[in-house]
Amino acid sequence: MRVLVTGGTGYIGSTAVEILLTQGFEISILDDCSMGHADTVPAGVRFVNGSLLNVSEVADALTGCDAVMHFAGKSLVGESVEKPDLYHSVNVDGTRILLDQMREQLITKIVFSSSAATYGEPKVVPILETSETIPTNPYGATKLAIDHMITAEAAAHGISAASLRYFNVAGALKAKRGWLAERHNPETHLIPNVLRSTTDNPVKIFGTDWPTHDGTCIRDYVHVIDLIDAHLKALQSLGKPGHEIYNLGSGSGYSVREVVAAASAATGQQIPFIDSPRRAGDPAVLIADISKAKSKLAWEPSRDMNTMVSDTLKSMA
Ligand code: UDP
Repeated sequence: MRVLVTGGTGYIGSTAVEILLTQGFEISILDDCSMGHADTVPAGVRFVNGSLLNVSEVADALTGCDAVMHFAGKSLVGESVEKPDLYHSVNVDGTRILLDQMREQLITKIVFSSSAATYGEPKVVPILETSETIPTNPYGATKLAIDHMITAEAAAHGISAASLRYFNVAGALKAKRGWLAERHNPETHLIPNVLRSTTDNPVKIFGTDWPTHDGTCIRDYVHVIDLIDAHLKALQSLGKPGHEIYNLGSGSGYSVREVVAAASAATGQQIPFIDSPRRAGDPAVLIADISKAKSKLAWEPSRDMNTMVSDTLKSMA
């Protein structure tokens, strides 16, 4: 089976490529390398250095594929608040082109990287897939629009699809060619920023007046290897026309201060930090109810916060 991995040179996409290869899949990648890195592409993989917004590049990348794992897209909450048009264009319009070209080539299976940001500020925690979806930022709005688009595509044209709503992805995978880690510049994600924190340039804690036990935001962290394991299980579950949505997290939450404490314990040094104003677009608490993925996909994450922090640390060495 050949799988097109869109966004296959990015942090999560490149990890998927590595794991799919070890499971015997053939891989094609479509990526414009705007966030990813072409040096992550392994030997033997078909690589189309192109854009989701370019119809002929998308059609080329899909040629000969049986299924799609769709990771490509803009993914930063703060940036989406500043550039909502860019997020709509790449994420929503780009996915429309991908679905159209899949239909042209009779490719009926897709696993999509959706997000917990689709839920917005939840009324009830942990969050179920049936919870209300009122995104608090344009990034989440684009992911929700795509989920709706895929539901409609499945109803109209019989594709078989799974949207995986990621909570906070962390950790890293060591491939033969090196660590597949977050390499963003500037880095916006909490765990890499905490591990990079210095006395001269301490990590900022975005908001200390949130309605949580210690005033900082709470998130649900899942290791990238566990996350990709869920993608494989979701892919294997496809076949019948329809669209299923699954939350992927750990089922429990860490506040920003608790992440700093976990990283201090893992490194054996107190991580310096500075209390700072809230970041635009952040909800206070996001924790997943993962019982649907557990029961329907037989998936369960097995790597804890300690492993996420220490793998991220090793990947940065
Ligand atoms: N955060 C922070 N300092 C940073 C980066 C993130 O305090 O340098 C906070 C952020 O406001 C959020 C949590 O850490 O509450 C996780 O943010 P991240 O950007 O890692 O993921 P997101 O939840 O936006 O997907």
